[in-house]
Amino acid sequence: MRDLHVFSIPLRTRFRGITVREGVLLRGPAGWGEFSPFLEYDDATSRPWLACAREAADEGWPAPLRELVPVNVTVPATDPEHAHAIVSAGGCRTAKVKVAERGQTLADDLARVEAVRDALGPDGLVRVDANGAWDVDEAVRAIAAIDRAAGGLEYVEQPVTTVEDLAVVRRRVGVPVAADESIRRAEDPYRVRDLEAADVAVLKVQPLGGVRACLRIAEDIGLPVVVSSAIESSVGIAAGVALAAALPELHHASGLATVQMLTDDVAVEPLLPVDGMLRVGRPEVDLDALARLAAPADRTDHWRARLASVGQDQPT
Ligand SMILES: [Mg+2]
Repeated sequence: MRDLHVFSIPLRTRFRGITVREGVLLRGPAGWGEFSPFLEYDDATSRPWLACAREAADEGWPAPLRELVPVNVTVPATDPEHAHAIVSAGGCRTAKVKVAERGQTLADDLARVEAVRDALGPDGLVRVDANGAWDVDEAVRAIAAIDRAAGGLEYVEQPVTTVEDLAVVRRRVGVPVAADESIRRAEDPYRVRDLEAADVAVLKVQPLGGVRACLRIAEDIGLPVVVSSAIESSVGIAAGVALAAALPELHHASGLATVQMLTDDVAVEPLLPVDGMLRVGRPEVDLDALARLAAPADRTDHWRARLASVGQDQPT
């Protein structure tokens, strides 16, 4: 049995309906890996997540082509003053702005995006994420208006839910379209490519099976990639950074500045951006933090059983 720690870290704000992020850290000859599929995922869905953790622990990652990886600041569906303050404090040259929030209007989105542009200045990049909330006609109308308010958008992420609708929207707007929720399993990026549904593919290392698996996908689909997180600890984020560092071309800032969504972290120096950049490398795990963040016994039992079940084809 390899060295194994189950962690439980409260989130600052609710995300995907959860308030605590749980997962397993595995240590192998190459270092620490993180296995943290969401709780509702079945064994088959969780298998690539384990492959990612094992790659990190057993093999390590391909050599980096860069030492620093630019990341975006994330602006939630908040008021313009708060949005301005978040971007000004973030130090990032790219901002990802949540739009199409339930209970809000297009006017709210326009005001938020204008405030973000004001805080970034003319050279910064503004991307928006609708998390699939619009229908096709709403998307076409909203994207044009938001693009004007933003003084130009880098791209719009997942304006509509289905890949088919993404393809339709993409043909009707002048703003590049990124696929995020449409890419959850290894076969999904190929479908996005085949339907010409997006200009940009958002890739996450855990759901897609690790750094090498994502490098293969990126090469196969021939689309620019945005590396994004699944809200991991610094150990998991480091795998995303390794992907961003190993991509032959990196056109876009990564969505990897998410450690601050957690109230605590497992690393001696958490992977937080400095001047809009994350450093490439392996964070040193803090043994005191592992003890502080250890999951309760029943949750540890749950994760050990889950790990055994997901990894039953191979010894863990
Ligand atoms: Mg997204």
